[in-house]
Amino acid sequence: MFKIAQPASIIFGKHSAEEYSFPENCLIITSKGAISRGWLEYLKINDCYVFDKVEPNPGIEIAENIISEFEKSKFSCIIGLGGGSSMDVAKFVASKMKKLKICIPTTFGSGSEVTRISVLKVNGNKKSFHDDSQIADVAIVDSHFIENSPPKIIKNSAIDAAAQCSEGYDSKNGNPLTKFLCNQAFELLEEGILKMDREKIVLGSLISGLGFGNCSTTLGHALSYVFSNEGYSHGHALSFTTLYAHEFNSSRFYHRFSNIVKKLNFSKINLKQDYNEAAELILTDRKHLDNNPKQVSKQDVVSLLEKINTDNSM
Ligand SMILES: [Zn+2]
Repeated sequence: MFKIAQPASIIFGKHSAEEYSFPENCLIITSKGAISRGWLEYLKINDCYVFDKVEPNPGIEIAENIISEFEKSKFSCIIGLGGGSSMDVAKFVASKMKKLKICIPTTFGSGSEVTRISVLKVNGNKKSFHDDSQIADVAIVDSHFIENSPPKIIKNSAIDAAAQCSEGYDSKNGNPLTKFLCNQAFELLEEGILKMDREKIVLGSLISGLGFGNCSTTLGHALSYVFSNEGYSHGHALSFTTLYAHEFNSSRFYHRFSNIVKKLNFSKINLKQDYNEAAELILTDRKHLDNNPKQVSKQDVVSLLEKINTDNSM
């Protein structure tokens, strides 16, 4: 038996967000640059509440602050506009406040617009929340937003999407549909990255979200969070944690993933935390590790961290 959960409505296409008729009285949850970048103007949303203080790797406190700030405001729906961080906060808040959810990604990699997952920091450590009540009602994927994205953002997002679909393909929780989607997503992302074809990256990211969102990522993501806790961006951390996790799992994607990491030219990552301490924290992440195709021991995690820190072959 398997179950597929995704937004009731997924709208894909250049300028699809510009053409969409948004409900009145929305709360937009986004990051600081949203207004200066002209995003709200582009969406032609006038009558709305705006919370534009979401930072990368947001903590659960920001979601709690939004809930208390807007508890008494009368709005009909919540729009998550931005990268994974903004959409994750919006989904978490909307699920708690029982509001309609519209997600519009402006970076293309997290797949958050179509998944039931939000990632927030709790006590300084990244934690993922999985719940069907966090699935957007409407996801609008508009490649207009990638046009002016800096290359660094595109590279970090694209590697996230590639990590997600390749880990998802190998997930023990997968099924024929997730395998089909994850494989298709990887093909698009690989070509998109190697040829820097932005439209392919946007579509690949959406399909990656639909795939891994229904089967979960695995060891690569579990390993990445301790690096993010030390300040590495999600994509940068994954470029190496997923690479070494693929090698450990003998993933069919190992060589192809290694190719795109090389193409994107990521600098090495380095963990300062004690390996044993980090391994203990990583092993509590059962949502990712229980789906990993191979069982992972504490010694395995320590060896992987050691390898990531010391291997200079990339
Ligand atoms: Zn990810």
